[in-house]
Amino acid sequence: MPISRIIRLYKQAFEAIDEDIRKIETARDAVIKSEPERKDLAKTALSAPDAVRQNEVLKIMQAYNFRIDRAEQVKMRAYIHLMKVAGRAAEIIKPYLKNAYLGSKYGTIDDAARGLNCGIDFSLVPERTLEKVLSAPFHGKNYSQRIWDNTAEAAGKAQKIITNGLVRGESYPHMARELQKVTQNTYYNAYRLIQTETTHFTELGRFDAYKDMGIDKYTYYATLGAKTCDVCAALDGRTFDIKDGIEGKNKPPIHPHCMCYTVIGDVKLTSRLARDPETGKNYKVRGDMTYKEWYEGLSQEKKTAIKAYRNRHADTAQYSRYTERLGKENMPKTLELFQKMKYNDSERWGDYKYYYRNIDGRPIEYVKIDRELSKLGITNKGKAYPTEQLKITEWSAHSQKRMAQDGVSKDDAVSFCNEAIAIMKKYPNPETQYNYYHNNGITGIRKRDGVVNTVIGKVRFGEDTEKILEVMNKWLS
Ligand SMILES: [Zn+2]
Repeated sequence: MPISRIIRLYKQAFEAIDEDIRKIETARDAVIKSEPERKDLAKTALSAPDAVRQNEVLKIMQAYNFRIDRAEQVKMRAYIHLMKVAGRAAEIIKPYLKNAYLGSKYGTIDDAARGLNCGIDFSLVPERTLEKVLSAPFHGKNYSQRIWDNTAEAAGKAQKIITNGLVRGESYPHMARELQKVTQNTYYNAYRLIQTETTHFTELGRFDAYKDMGIDKYTYYATLGAKTCDVCAALDGRTFDIKDGIEGKNKPPIHPHCMCYTVIGDVKLTSRLARDPETGKNYKVRGDMTYKEWYEGLSQEKKTAIKAYRNRHADTAQYSRYTERLGKENMPKTLELFQKMKYNDSERWGDYKYYYRNIDGRPIEYVKIDRELSKLGITNKGKAYPTEQLKITEWSAHSQKRMAQDGVSKDDAVSFCNEAIAIMKKYPNPETQYNYYHNNGITGIRKRDGVVNTVIGKVRFGEDTEKILEVMNKWLS
């Protein structure tokens, strides 16, 4: 979940600040060069969500002296520690909010089509529109500006604790306790922000779906519980015209933390229309086709959009399993990209499934070599592994004959092992053989006893060997 990742980043930042404060006592009057901080400030400015906030950072940077005392430095570092998180947090939360919006739009349409057993016309959201939707302010700010401002406020509080502590000569434990309060408050604000923004984008998606469907009424549902406020409880079950929906008044979120939602208001009307193709046209409901016919007739992109929503829970779990096994750097960057690949690019998805099943703890390049070789029809030469040296105990008669024929010396054969690009482990046990692939030759050693079974000089390379070396060089050099 994005919230736990963001909390972890804040936690690290506050721990670093705490550490700085603890050390301040020992070097209070030292004068320090501030170049690293100036550089960090310049970097921080780049992650600001807009020009106004960027200028604020640049102003701080310009006012920052070349030589400063330790206290000034600690204050500036507190700011930098936290503002680094602001930029990262916005990046982390973005795909999540994007999914909330898209999933809710396509999901609402899919649910309605399924519920009414009919077809519903809808449009896909182009990427550029999506960017606009995400960056549009809501209650005066968009999500990244809000994260930024909340974090800047926390940084200001941390700096004040440092200033006050030094002026009044407070002890480290006292300052640490004060900082702890700011920490807790920052976590709480981050949690609230994500929850409120999620509700905001979810409802935005639903309303866009209502509009696509030509539905003109919605019904408000409060998530009823001990915490439901009076305003939300009073709205529960009431139906409004879509055009009269105002966020904060009769459309969720009504307040921060709001988890209320809306549904299609006039279900009776649309279900009647679904059975009546004539009137159905007005409502863009295709009553003349079943849900199944409609779904099967959708374009590939539309199917993907709906599948991504339907399978979101299973895909989220699968995405994290794959990420854990294959490494984050080897995966599509977001769940959305993962789903797009899974539903649209069967070849690449086939590769990933293969990597997942066969990686066996190796760096991913090796399983990529296996995959590529299997596509080339080379399946009986073993599996690629990082080089791992075996101790040579004996040279078989066969290998010695081969060396003489190919003009390869023992030193050459040993160097094929020492400088191998990779090995191909050829099973089965107990006859497992490690074939060391080198551009100039191959040396094959039996794993269990270190006997050199075979040596192949470059002159005797077959077509398959050339291909194996080509693929190895492609992935490993
Ligand atoms: Zn509410």
